[in-house]
Amino acid sequence: MILIRKLLFIITIPVIVFFIQELFAIADDNWQLDGSIELSDAEEIELGKSVNEYIRHQFYLRNDPELSKELNDITQRLTAVSDRKTLPFTCDIIQSYSINAFSAPGGHIYITEGLLKFAETEDEIAGIIGHEVAHASLRHVSKLYREFIEIISQREKGTDSVATLLLFNCHLEEFEQEADTTGVLYSHKAGFNPNGLPDFLERHLNLLIRNGVFGFLRFGSYTTISSRINHMREYISSLTIKE
Ligand SMILES: [Zn+2]
Repeated sequence: MILIRKLLFIITIPVIVFFIQELFAIADDNWQLDGSIELSDAEEIELGKSVNEYIRHQFYLRNDPELSKELNDITQRLTAVSDRKTLPFTCDIIQSYSINAFSAPGGHIYITEGLLKFAETEDEIAGIIGHEVAHASLRHVSKLYREFIEIISQREKGTDSVATLLLFNCHLEEFEQEADTTGVLYSHKAGFNPNGLPDFLERHLNLLIRNGVFGFLRFGSYTTISSRINHMREYISSLTIKE
């Protein structure tokens, strides 16, 4: 269970980064993860089952068949155009006022009621789900898993390495950007307005500013989210120019 709890940390970090962006590291284009140490599909699905069980113990899930069907229909449309169609993607609703979304290994996606309330259009929700489908399609959890285990074991041995942590943070940042553009592409291909995700993030950013959240965080949090939004807008204009 401790490992699962630690694993949840890694899974939720991209989510936290997604909205708050506290981790900054300059991405190094030269890094390359060794594909042979990634989890296999079967391993990832197995791990996903345990994480899903853990989440179901930690949170109350909302039982609303109609809403669940709507969300799962959106998820299936996005999965159909994704690069990992074989994963059994599902989308569950977590009873929480917070505005959040995250995914567990094996295609489990979780969205809070707060997020659903805050979203104004189906395109925005598709943008959020598309981002999570992209994380899974690009095997991000699987790629970070071994690195994360390495950090935990270093910490336990008292041999923490700043380089390992920095590399890990680099990957988190890099993966966020990758999930942004890939998710936007999936939304576009599935027939949703690809501006859904940047629109949502922009409104959420304004809410955070109004609530004074950035007074407590580093100024970089604001600039990181803005730069993600700009990056997505640029990518979307290149998509529409191609057509
Ligand atoms: Zn993310």
